[in-house]
Amino acid sequence: MPEIRIGILGCTGRMGQAVVHAVSENPDAMVAGGTGRPGSPLIGADVGWTAGLEPIDLAITDDPASLFEKADVVIDFTLPEGARRHAALAASAGRPYVVGTTGFGADGEKAIREAAAKAPVVQAANFSLGVNLLLSLVKQAAGALDENFDIEILEMHHRHKVDAPSGTALALGRAAAEGRDIDFDAKTERARDGATGPRAVGTIGFGALRGGDVAGEHSVIFAGPQERVELTHKATDRMIFARGAVKAALWAAKQPPGLYGMGDVLGLGKA
Ligand code: NAD
Repeated sequence: MPEIRIGILGCTGRMGQAVVHAVSENPDAMVAGGTGRPGSPLIGADVGWTAGLEPIDLAITDDPASLFEKADVVIDFTLPEGARRHAALAASAGRPYVVGTTGFGADGEKAIREAAAKAPVVQAANFSLGVNLLLSLVKQAAGALDENFDIEILEMHHRHKVDAPSGTALALGRAAAEGRDIDFDAKTERARDGATGPRAVGTIGFGALRGGDVAGEHSVIFAGPQERVELTHKATDRMIFARGAVKAALWAAKQPPGLYGMGDVLGLGKA
């Protein structure tokens, strides 16, 4: 079977470089090319060399449109501003698009939905098997434990992360809200500081820690009277996300247009 050619948007970043490794080690895939932020000193450098591998004779460009033309499927780990434009390119090229970038606003989510009307799009705040299993477990636990159990979501990431709470923490919150059949947006409590008053019943609280090189840790805590249930996932290497994204890309290449999640790719269904 011919290898699927995968384009990597943001191949200069931590996740982008991990995706270059994950594509290189996968016998069903090959790197079609990679982009970096316009103005980046890495534009023109070799995609493989930048990721710490042997050169692969592909120069990093700042031209995502041409990457969408030459790749069979495109993976995006950049920033929301770039990813909004990338979603529009996926739509116009009708190219399968796997987006791991987090921190979108409503307009970014709209751009993703518009792309999914024209191309298969896999969007996941977290591509690891463990977190996608955790989403199902959280939904189940939230449905089984009533409002006497306060739900708190605690996450920790490396010091360079630019959005909070993490996209994964928000996805876990949505899974809990779905399990409990409540409106997530109306029931979330983000930062707490100063005279907050007592905790409101039935809300979902968030805490975000930042420091060091933590790849990603999430705990969902159900704190009830005299007992507490805690569900935790710890990522020790970002290659788990990169391999998951490549798996999603190979899967997306064979799907009709639509918006999919990692649960679809892994056969776990919706969280
Ligand atoms: P990073 O800052 O190391 O990398 C982002 C890279 O994208 C940088 O090299 C930057 O120069 C480049 N970039 C920015 N705008 C660009 C553009 N318009 N075109 C091309 N390149 C552009 O960050 P990171 O740790 O790799 O994370 C990237 C994103 O992925 C974040 O939103 C993060 O939350 C998310 N993430 C998702 C998962 C997941 O499993 N879904 C896992 C880890 C990180």
